[in-house]
Amino acid sequence: MIKLFENPEHKNLFVNDLSSGQMIQANQHVIIHNGEGIVLDPGGHKIYTKLFAKLSSQLKSNGLKHIFFSHQDPDIIAAANGWLMVTDARAYLSALWMRFIPHFGVDEMVVGRITPIPDAGMVVHLGGVPLKLIPAHFLHSPGNFQLYDPVSKILYTGDLGASLGTEYAYVEDFDAHVPAMEGFHRRYIANNRALRTWAKTVKNLEIDMIAPQHGALFPTPELSRRFIEWAENLQCGTDLLADCYPIPA
Ligand code: FE
Repeated sequence: MIKLFENPEHKNLFVNDLSSGQMIQANQHVIIHNGEGIVLDPGGHKIYTKLFAKLSSQLKSNGLKHIFFSHQDPDIIAAANGWLMVTDARAYLSALWMRFIPHFGVDEMVVGRITPIPDAGMVVHLGGVPLKLIPAHFLHSPGNFQLYDPVSKILYTGDLGASLGTEYAYVEDFDAHVPAMEGFHRRYIANNRALRTWAKTVKNLEIDMIAPQHGALFPTPELSRRFIEWAENLQCGTDLLADCYPIPA
């Protein structure tokens, strides 16, 4: 696993090479504090066994305390049942998506271990650290959260900040990186209004790094600030809607 931050009590790790074939590239993030772990957006079935094996080298059994689902997409939630069956962890998912989760084959007996996240967000305690689940609705999912770790000062942004097709794990040249993000953000992110609310919100946080779920990370305060400014000025989603669609012929 790749280290993003480490002090004697606290570690932020990620893996970015578990996807294969037709799967979209994804980063799986893990935070460990005083022997307690949380996994963020753990991914689908094919990733589950590989990630679980990697986690076992970092955490004692029963060390995984929490599982965070930023939203309801299959690349995030499809293996929810597996994770809940083999660990005692508690999972967190937007209250909006709770009724959909049985469709992913989550067993009755473990569904009670999923805590619905209210629209306003909440705090999850990891070995004493208050991790903040920050509302980021409509970016892209209508019930969507990001996670801020106040120790490492990393903001985990889920699909926001996602990039495709780059070979590098960390952004160095922001302007050169923009084309790798544009297509996804223009089509999937709801609109500029939602981005401006988000930008105003996260400007209240001290951010050293922005870590999306797909593609390259923004590894410095300066690159994180550049990303926030880019996002708050982006026209996307419903901003770009035509007046009327042509009827397919
Ligand atoms: Fe998604």
